[in-house]
Amino acid sequence: MPDSDLTKQEDLFTNTTCPYCGVGCGVLAQMNEYGVVTVKGDTEHPANQGRLCSKGTALGETVYLDERLLYPEILGEQVSWEQALATVAGHFEKIIETHGPDAVAFYVSGQLLTEDYYVANKLMKGFIGSGNIDTNSRLCMSSVVAGYKRAFGEDVVPGCYEDLDRAKLIVLVGSNTAWCHPVLYQRIVKAKKINPDLMVVNIDPRKTQTSSVADLHLDIRPGTDSVLFNGLLVWLETADEHNAMFTGNFTSGIQAAMEAAKKSASSIEIVAAKCGLPINDVQEFYRLFARTERTVTVFSQGINQSSSGVDKINSIINCHLYTGRIGRPGMGPFSLTGQPNAMGGREAGGLANQLAAHMEIGNETHRHRVKRFWNAPVMAETEGYKAVNLFNAIAEGKIKAVWIIATNPVVSLPEADKVRSALEKCELVVVSDCVGETDTAKLAHIRLPATTWGERDGTVTNSERCISRQRPFLEPPGLAKPDWWIITEVARKMGFADAFPYTRPAEIFREHARLSGFENANERLFDISALSDITDRQYNALTPMQWPITRASPNGTARLFSEARFSTPDNKARFIAIEPRPPASACSANYPFVLNTGRVRDHWHTMTRTGMSPRLSAHTIESYVEIHPDDARLYAIRESELVEITSPLDKSIYVRARISDKQQQGSLFVPMHWNQQFSSQARVGSLIKAELDPVSGQPEFKHSVAKIRPWQANWYGFLISRHKPALKYAKYWARSRGKGFWRYEVAGHAIPQDWSEHAHTLLNHPGEKENWVEFYDKARSHYRAARIIKDRLDSCIFIYPGNILPPRDWLISLFQKDSITSEERANLLRGTPPADQEDYGKVICACFNVGEKTLLQAIQANDLKTVEAIGDTLQAGTNCGSCKPELAELLKLL
Ligand code: SF4
Repeated sequence: MPDSDLTKQEDLFTNTTCPYCGVGCGVLAQMNEYGVVTVKGDTEHPANQGRLCSKGTALGETVYLDERLLYPEILGEQVSWEQALATVAGHFEKIIETHGPDAVAFYVSGQLLTEDYYVANKLMKGFIGSGNIDTNSRLCMSSVVAGYKRAFGEDVVPGCYEDLDRAKLIVLVGSNTAWCHPVLYQRIVKAKKINPDLMVVNIDPRKTQTSSVADLHLDIRPGTDSVLFNGLLVWLETADEHNAMFTGNFTSGIQAAMEAAKKSASSIEIVAAKCGLPINDVQEFYRLFARTERTVTVFSQGINQSSSGVDKINSIINCHLYTGRIGRPGMGPFSLTGQPNAMGGREAGGLANQLAAHMEIGNETHRHRVKRFWNAPVMAETEGYKAVNLFNAIAEGKIKAVWIIATNPVVSLPEADKVRSALEKCELVVVSDCVGETDTAKLAHIRLPATTWGERDGTVTNSERCISRQRPFLEPPGLAKPDWWIITEVARKMGFADAFPYTRPAEIFREHARLSGFENANERLFDISALSDITDRQYNALTPMQWPITRASPNGTARLFSEARFSTPDNKARFIAIEPRPPASACSANYPFVLNTGRVRDHWHTMTRTGMSPRLSAHTIESYVEIHPDDARLYAIRESELVEITSPLDKSIYVRARISDKQQQGSLFVPMHWNQQFSSQARVGSLIKAELDPVSGQPEFKHSVAKIRPWQANWYGFLISRHKPALKYAKYWARSRGKGFWRYEVAGHAIPQDWSEHAHTLLNHPGEKENWVEFYDKARSHYRAARIIKDRLDSCIFIYPGNILPPRDWLISLFQKDSITSEERANLLRGTPPADQEDYGKVICACFNVGEKTLLQAIQANDLKTVEAIGDTLQAGTNCGSCKPELAELLKLL
């Protein structure tokens, strides 16, 4: 067991940090002598004060070795680390020698720790001499980086989470906080309970679970946010809500910004018409904003993932500058980052247009400074390729070797099929990952096993600039190694041993801290130089702290700009003149729908971790599309049917229909998570055209176009198995994890001659005769079978001609038993649950496994009126609270 000062001896819990969203919750974790991992919220961590959401709570279910990559591999053959590292270094050197440094690239991840990021960036920019390192954070928050830089001269989040407690108005824009940053959402709900005067406005084309906390929901026309905020700027002038002292002394560019705003949004009527909103709602929002000094505007991917995301962000910041609402408690523009260490990556220079420590690649002084600090032989002179263009350059043969670290671009990038074919053609693809079988890792020539959460040691920075430690409490399995170690070893083999002497993360962190303060006479706010000389012991014991962390503020800084001194050359914040642009893709007769993508409550990114958790998988077992009831009627789509969604790229996916009036007419929503390891064809990234913000290079995931139609299969079914079948014979399949089993929803076109043979093949037991009980109702085309080994249910399969299949709960319960009775066998073959068997319905509360039907029955039977009353009766919602918005929705149904 790794030695850590922060392992509390009395209970052997280790303080670490959740590896999912940018809230950055503190976690206490422990593995007992039986190998069972227990996780709970860290009450002393300022980000969550003990709370965890459903994903954090289920972390213990995700640390096991299923599907882990355990050994280095070259072309699928296990090799030693020595051989793997020498091969990577040798190939990179050869390509650089022949084609120059820009012929190689790294594509890294917001999952990496800051120490990993630091060495990767140092190797590429200072020693290979290319800017070609970019990160998947490009996909979620690069527009914020650019927006903050334009306004403040530096990528700086002004406020902190405490501002949410102290605000009188919280404006949530493009942020399904309830599902994507659940602990912060709970914080807002709590703030509202303590302070009933706190108003919440939710601006989002969809009504999401977040809407349940909102006093006002503006279901804005997709892509018109800049018009709304330009209109607000104009309204603030009209309402005489101008903080002239602040703008006069501490800002520049107000006149041009106001003129531009008036061009696009001169009156409430024009704004309402352009944004598709009722005039009264716009007016109400503007009045609330105008009269509430303590306003926090929270924004997230709904704003960032746009071809005009940077402008949208500056249109929000303009309104805060105009009213001087920044740098004081309870106010300010506040971006929530998607990933656990997107911020750390920004600090270490993980984006292709940055250097390190908030210095710019385009700034000669910065380049020389970093070169001297690193004693680097070369220094990248120009920006590298940003994510989408990096893979385009691979496709064009300009980049011949790419090292992909802790990310899955074949799923997560737009035009994902193009990314796949680029990698198929690439001369050398190296993938470092903890999981062996991702859509991307399958294409690698060299696969390097990396450590993951629970094993990693380093730091991360959350959305409020708070640096926290991720600490190990598990030994790395197999030959898995930390990413910083792998990169360091490759750097050494490339001849840079002197500059990469690291033996532990504390050494890297100290260097990173020293660089942040190097020749930094208050020029850059990112300064953690007070930590430059911390000992290993102090590093191990480091408590969460918000940067800047300097000699003047050794305990960190909660809020910035309190003196209205910004990082621009004249120290003034900049208004930016915004001329709103429509989204890049417009609907047409052929593609009449706007396609929006995003997260679900209980999954994370490409599901490599959350897809392993039975509790998390139960909430959403397969991908889906949300569609408005009128659109569903028009296109003859029925609830829970399979549909085909096709985009102008001539790519299609197959997902389940969910009909909901929370979706705008003319819009579709599909989750981003599903990939080819979890569904036959549900990678929504393959549909999305790569339209980029011209400033940030962030793709427009929130607005592409598509068409939809029912997808009719000739047979439908499901199978539940203790093993993972290959399923190559089903046209549609989606798998999810249960406790001790895998569950598959399947459908197909071709009707087999012999169902029995087909079922055996689907379950990977072709030709097996013993162990099976089967029933085939030829008249109704119902086929049911079970594989039972020594009275223990091993697998079962149900095939029907239509989409209505028996409930699964009772079948799943049989997989929890060591043996099944003859009556249960008979029920299996009849396809009906025993009379006393309840159907719980879709899981709503993942912590206590409470289903929708159970909840509805209890609400009715006990006349429950509040979420708290549901909790008292069924426990639902009383642990992590992530399901509370859904419980509130159920109460409204009855
Ligand atoms: Fe993890 Fe949930 Fe906290 Fe995000 S809100 S850091 S996912 S526990």
